[in-house]
Amino acid sequence: MTEFELQILGTGAGASQVYDGLPSSSFMLLQNETPVCLIDLGLGVGHEVIKSFGGFPKDIIVTHNHSDHAGDLPVVLRVEQAKGRKCRVICQQQIAERLQQHRLAEHLERIAAKDLAEWLTPPQQVRTALNEYFSIEFFQGRHSELSFAFILYYQERALLAYTGDSTLESELYRTLSQADTFIIDARPDSNTWHASFSEVGPWLKPGCYIIGHGLNNEQIEHYPHLPLLKQGQKLSLSLGQL
Ligand SMILES: [Zn+2]
Repeated sequence: MTEFELQILGTGAGASQVYDGLPSSSFMLLQNETPVCLIDLGLGVGHEVIKSFGGFPKDIIVTHNHSDHAGDLPVVLRVEQAKGRKCRVICQQQIAERLQQHRLAEHLERIAAKDLAEWLTPPQQVRTALNEYFSIEFFQGRHSELSFAFILYYQERALLAYTGDSTLESELYRTLSQADTFIIDARPDSNTWHASFSEVGPWLKPGCYIIGHGLNNEQIEHYPHLPLLKQGQKLSLSLGQL
């Protein structure tokens, strides 16, 4: 019996950690209650991981190089590497180049990016094995910074899809919505680089959730009709027996 859960570490947007103390959008995949993969490591997320789990899993998927998706990465990679355990950053090829050149620039005079972490950097739309059981495929979103959605597979099952940051793109959404659990980036109002709540409405079905909204738990109560994720929430991916 294999059980999967997602623990939501934050639901914030760009400024929410710095100005309001809401951690950036991120979630942890748990397999039989053990953290196996962190999805995005933006500002404020590192501390939430330590509070909830006491340490980082080896695998960290990064969708793009915005601060609210990768802001804590330089500190975490450096501290873990100094402790003798390299994390493995999993991201699309061009995202890896951006992270290595720009996000990790503060370390590069002393330590090369390949020495700070292991890197698994598939090209887009090439399903690539993470290990014996998991594989991942990246799909480009449309956003102010190059950003990639993904589907994470467990064996042949599309376990989890996440848009990363993207406007609503019908073809992308159609591809991602085949997963058992589909996490959508959306904001309360229309925005040039993100989908809005009203736009994503027709795509919502059981197993779909919204993140990146930047609302605190009190503000979320104003949208009882929408599946808005909350910080600290745990979702069962309810696969039953595999
Ligand atoms: Zn972004």
